[in-house]
Order: sequence, then C-alpha cells, then structure tokens
Amino acid sequence: MSGIRPTGFLHLGNYFGAIRNYIKMQDDFDCYFMVADLHSLTTHPDTKHLKGNVQRVLAENIACGLNPDKVALYCQSQVYETSELYLYLNMLAYTGELEKTVTFKDKIRQHPGNINAGLLTYPVLQAADIILHRAKYVPVGKDQEQHLEMARNFVNRFNHRYGDVFPEPQAFNYNEVLVKVPSLDGSGKMSKSENQMATLFLADEDDVIRKKVLKAKTDSGPKENNSEKPEYIENIFLLMELVSSREIVEKYEADYNNCTIRYGDMKKQLGEDMVNFISPIRNKVETILNDEIYLKSVMEQGAEKARKSARATMQIVREAMGLNY
Ligand code: AMP
Repeated sequence: MSGIRPTGFLHLGNYFGAIRNYIKMQDDFDCYFMVADLHSLTTHPDTKHLKGNVQRVLAENIACGLNPDKVALYCQSQVYETSELYLYLNMLAYTGELEKTVTFKDKIRQHPGNINAGLLTYPVLQAADIILHRAKYVPVGKDQEQHLEMARNFVNRFNHRYGDVFPEPQAFNYNEVLVKVPSLDGSGKMSKSENQMATLFLADEDDVIRKKVLKAKTDSGPKENNSEKPEYIENIFLLMELVSSREIVEKYEADYNNCTIRYGDMKKQLGEDMVNFISPIRNKVETILNDEIYLKSVMEQGAEKARKSARATMQIVREAMGLNY
C-alpha cells in the first residue's frame, strides 16, 4: 500500500522512490495504491484544481506502467472508511510525538499561516491509509521512514489495547536501502513544491530537461586521483546511475578517478539519457489525460476494490474495539 499527494507534477523522486516499486510489486502482491487527496488538503486547501491534479497523478502512474486491472488504484477521499479509522487512531496518537515529527516541523516553516490540526495528525491519516488494508509492505522513499515508524507505534498501541488486528507495516524496497533522489542544486531532495529548477518532472519538455541538468552544480574537477566526491558531484553520479547504461557510468567513474572528467560532457550525456527516460512517459501521460471517461472508470474500479478491503477491516476493528452494540 502506498500513496502520492496530488499537489503538483510528479518528478523523478516520486518515480524512483515509489512508482518504480509499485510497478514491480503489482505482479508479486495484492496492491493498493492511491492518490492522497485528503492529505493534500493539509497544505493546499483550495480545491479549484484538485480534480485535474488527481487525474494527472492517476495518468502519470499508469503511464509509468501501473496496470489498474492488476492493482487497486484509487482516490483516498472515495473510501470513507479511511476517515473512520483515522478518528480511532487519533485517540492512540500523542500530541508530543506528533509535534516532534520532522515533516511537521518542515511544514510549519513552509506554511506559517496555516498550522492546522490536519497537518499535525498527517502521520495518523497515513497510518490509517496503510492499515485500512492491513498492509505489510509500504513502497516509499527515504523521506517517509519516520512516518512508517510512527505507523508501527500506532499499530502496536492498537493491538495492545484491542487485540491483534493489524500487522506491523514496513517501508519496502525489495531489501535495498530506501531511495532519496537528490535535487540538482546539490542540496536536499527533488520535490514537487521546492526549487522547481532543481527538480526533473515527468512532464518536463526535452529542452527544459537538458537545461536543468546543465545547470546542476559542479566544480573544476578533482585534483588528486581517487579522491572522495563532494555531495553535489555524488548526486550527479547517483542520477546517472538511475537512467544511464552501466558502461556510461563506469566511463565517468574512471574519468573522475584519474582526474580527466569533463563535467560539461557528463551533464550533456546525463541530459540526453534523462530525455530518453522521461519523454516516452510524458507523451503517454498526455494521451491518457485526454480520455476522461477512461480515468473515471479507473477511479470507480479502484475505489470499489479498496472499499471492499476497507469494509472487511473496519468490521474487524469495530468488533475488536467493542463498538458492535
Ligand atoms: P509525495 O510527493 O510527498 O506525495 O511523495 C510520494 C512518494 O514519493 C513517497 O513515497 C515519497 O517517499 C516519494 N518521494 C518523494 N520525493 C522523493 C525523492 N526526492 N526521493 C525519493 N522518493 C521521493
């Protein structure tokens, strides 16, 4: 089970942190993937463009290879049981631990004029989404590690008080470390809302991709053989490993190690490889977005599958809590 907020265009971080695993998992597991529109209301209360944004996230997931016939691909607000479970879990979440959450602290810095209770209880809603399907594996990027730990705490508290209902959810990346796709400016991660010039979006036009990659921070190159890479150079290699062939990465590794690397050439190559990776996805997204009837049917089919699983869980939850009079 996993979700993505409809707060903007999806980017390379969403792809390599989350969607890549959704696509792998759809053949191995019983999967629930959703567009987290309720979560987006914590920071984006204006709903004027919400429908379009929800459709875009759906289309972007499908264009990347997610098959709505194999998984439950749905929209969070269409499964009302989420809100009921969120309410019960809120009684098991302590304000102290919520206030200490890193993402909460980040968000109050970004949105000082709208520090609402939904922002504080964001990890509770996320836990509700996951355990609503009694999910064990949650494919997410590294930024979500703390939220998953909180979800396990809520689960343990629930199970301790009301009986063994939920498995402990874990962040999942096929036994590999969780991914953090760095931004192109050498600091932080790619994100939908911060520094757009340092993030590669799945909707970026070819020239924009090339321009962004060429602007990535570099320096005059290493002075000694086999020296350690500064973080911003490490990041360029990391991006190259995601989209370029092994031979190309090895060539630039060797050039770096014997101090002959030319960052201009490296970025040109990376730009072309990024274009080759992103442009087929972008083109597919546009085709899917033009078919509103299809997207509506995907959402209906997904919501139906998710509701079925949610109803079964909530029956067990209400009984375990003694709310079955
Ligand atoms: P969000 O865009 O915050 O709704 O996140 C959706 C999914 O993308 C979550 O699983 C995140 O962990 C993942 N994600 C977002 N940004 C990155 C990034 N820069 N690197 C890796 N994963 C990311």
